[in-house]
Amino acid sequence: MTDKTVLLEKKLSQAISARKTLEEAKKTQVSMLSDFATRLSFSCRGQDVALDNQLAKFRSALNKGMEIEQLTPLIETTIAQLKQQEAVYEANERALTTHIQSAGKQLQKLKGLPDDTRRKLRHVLDHELGDIKAVSEFVPLLEKILQFYMQTLQAKAAPEFSSSTRNPELAIELLSLTNELVFEEDVSEQIKQIKQSLSADDSVDSLLDNSVSIIRIFAKSIARERQSAQGFLVSLNQTLEELHKSIVETTNQSKSVNHEVSALNKRIEEKISTLNHQTQQATSITELKQLVDNELKELSKDLIERENIERRDKEVLLQSFDKINDRINLLETKVTNYKKRLNEQKFKSLLDGLTKLPNRAAFDDRYNQEFHLFEVHNSDVTLVVIDVDHFKSINDKYGHSAGDKTLQVIARALKKSIRKADFIARYGGEEFVLLMPGMPLSSAQSPLEKIRNTVKAIPFRFKEKEVQITISLGATQLKKGDTPLTAFDRADNALYDAKNSGRDKLCIRE
Ligand code: GH3
Ligand code: MG
Ligand code: MG
Repeated sequence: MTDKTVLLEKKLSQAISARKTLEEAKKTQVSMLSDFATRLSFSCRGQDVALDNQLAKFRSALNKGMEIEQLTPLIETTIAQLKQQEAVYEANERALTTHIQSAGKQLQKLKGLPDDTRRKLRHVLDHELGDIKAVSEFVPLLEKILQFYMQTLQAKAAPEFSSSTRNPELAIELLSLTNELVFEEDVSEQIKQIKQSLSADDSVDSLLDNSVSIIRIFAKSIARERQSAQGFLVSLNQTLEELHKSIVETTNQSKSVNHEVSALNKRIEEKISTLNHQTQQATSITELKQLVDNELKELSKDLIERENIERRDKEVLLQSFDKINDRINLLETKVTNYKKRLNEQKFKSLLDGLTKLPNRAAFDDRYNQEFHLFEVHNSDVTLVVIDVDHFKSINDKYGHSAGDKTLQVIARALKKSIRKADFIARYGGEEFVLLMPGMPLSSAQSPLEKIRNTVKAIPFRFKEKEVQITISLGATQLKKGDTPLTAFDRADNALYDAKNSGRDKLCIRE
């Protein structure tokens, strides 16, 4: 072998080994690429079908040992697809941020959100949400927000069961309920205590307790009423039965007396006729004298007996009549008493307990009556709805019992300011209605303004402070084509006008 040959051979083997190294390196590269493709396709799997397919193609091409050059178009499409996917991700991320933001805002608006939760939520919305750089970071954030929702739900569910939650509206409703009821004297102390307790404590616990007490009083008074009605009927029945018995006895007695007397009469008649007969046959005066003597003795005995029987009968009869009379008198007293109680009850149920003015039921009765009269005679009737201004603030500032007292004073003033023919009622709450029969709307304005000024001038004093209280009035006159309701609504709308134009006003609607 020449040196050249040796050199050539050496170069060749060098070239071969270099190529081998190159091939090895390429193999490693391809396998790395294939590995990468596999990993990539695994981690992207399920996010997008087209991308999944593209990566699968890429993988199998690599596995088949395809040339890098041949892979280029595949890689380019994959890159395009990945870019598209990236855009989708970004859009999703933005949508997710918006959703979380609006869910959080909604949560912030909820009442009863615990303070701590509110603070944390604000931090999440104002800072953490904007700092998110990867989708994965949403997960803990979502978890947090979910927790906030749960805390809020718990906090919101709690008040209904929490005994210390206040409920002033319910307290006021209960109070006005107790005001509307007029109870028997013996529970008035209990009612007073309930009122005091309601004014002092409007926690749900106390409201529940007081509701129960009110229901108890109701139940008791209903039971008592029923019992007394039942008692009355039972005793009525008893008395009627006794009366019946007495009358039957008297009749029987009279019958048997009649029987006795008529038997006796018959005997007397017989004796007289025998005597008559014997006297005609008597032959001597002595005989006659003897006869008459004997028979007359007998007769006078019979007559005395008859007189006795009759006198006895009369006595028994008189006694019976006395007894019957007593029973009837008793019955009469019982019925009168019962009637009186029923009337009282009816009267009571038409009076408002707090102000002692007629209540809404009484007004409805009277209003319907007046309306009927108006329809018949087409007379002038003015209807006025009156409402105390800003009354809620009296309760709020000075307490409910000050509010009650105020209503009583105003009611008294109203009652004093109207004519005899007028009718005023407490319609409910701090609202009164006034009916003025025979009064045209045009003439009503001056007396109504006077009433407004009278109330305004009452010197109220709460907590050492002088307080002026005003009323708003809405008036209308009943007119043809009205129903009780349309007329009332018109007056009510006039009251709205008065409220809307600044209160302490009289507004009219024709
Ligand atoms: P406005 O001038 O608009 O009429 O305001 P207002 O506060 O008078 O009216 P609103 O209807 O908001 O409140 C009426 C209040 O009257 C609510 C309730 O607390 C109170 N109230 C109703 N009945 C009674 C009651 O019998 N006693 C007491 N103390 N307050 C009552
Ligand atoms: Mg009102
Ligand atoms: Mg009011």
